[in-house]
Amino acid sequence: MSVTHLISTMRAAIRPRRPRPVILMYHRVAVVRHDPWGLTVDPERFEEQIAYVKHHRTPMSMDELVDRLRSKTLPANAVAVTLDDGYRDNLVNAKPVLGRHGVPATLFLATGFINQNTPFWWDELATMILASTQAIRDQQVWAGEAVALDWGEAEHSDMAGGWRAWDEPRSARQNAYLAMWRRLQRATAEDREVTMNTLRRHLGTAQEDPLGKPMSSDEIRDLLIDGLVELGAHTVTHPALTFLSRLESRQEIEGSRHKCRELATKCVNGFAYPYGDVSSEVRSEVATLGFSWACSTEGGFVDGKQADIYALPRVAVPNAPIGTLVGLTTA
Ligand SMILES: [Zn+2]
Repeated sequence: MSVTHLISTMRAAIRPRRPRPVILMYHRVAVVRHDPWGLTVDPERFEEQIAYVKHHRTPMSMDELVDRLRSKTLPANAVAVTLDDGYRDNLVNAKPVLGRHGVPATLFLATGFINQNTPFWWDELATMILASTQAIRDQQVWAGEAVALDWGEAEHSDMAGGWRAWDEPRSARQNAYLAMWRRLQRATAEDREVTMNTLRRHLGTAQEDPLGKPMSSDEIRDLLIDGLVELGAHTVTHPALTFLSRLESRQEIEGSRHKCRELATKCVNGFAYPYGDVSSEVRSEVATLGFSWACSTEGGFVDGKQADIYALPRVAVPNAPIGTLVGLTTA
């Protein structure tokens, strides 16, 4: 290593990290045991994170962030908060915190789940399979394909609850959960409901988690009442859009926008791709339909020079101490 290289490496190591503009991605603000996709942040940690954003960053709405990105006036410490899907805990646990600190947020709402009395299917599936303790030996045939529901007593890694879906499965339950999730993610809403009903019959109904259910229309109106939270569209049935025909994709995007507009009684400018699943066709569909911007689930900073306004990166906020958030929002 040359002396010059050594000096520049040492300088980089001691240079303080600087804030970069970011969009934070949340889903649930609650306490849950099984969270295979890491979607949940404890209410106390959420409060800590939002207080940090308020006192050390410049919080702003997504519309303002995009406007300032376009006009090249986005501050380096800009932060926009987003919540996905429409969980009831967003009203009960997140709204009071956002209100206390005056931090705006955008909720990307999957409108087909509104008023539904069962949890989102991916959470119900996690509770039915990962949180179950009994052994099961069963075989089902779905769409001509044999599916094994076959596992013994809960294993240590099932009971610990810390397994994440992007890690190697360590138990029969975790394998079964992933296989089933993949099938259901690509199924039509009707086929998914048929499969979920069969699973409910075989595995029993999942435990009640009132805060994990989708909000009702009245609850969404309560969430929006003081204008701090705004709506963005997130499709109707939360499909992986690149697996749909152009017509189906268009109906999903337009249908959710229509419902969001009705609930918010105002224009809805933003969209978020379910599962971050996007192709150039889906991206141009969203632009053609008149949205001003869209969010992906790709991690990263909102860099003024190369930002794609229809695939804005977001940082998934983990359920971790504040130092992790500071690290994720600086470079
Ligand atoms: Zn979503």
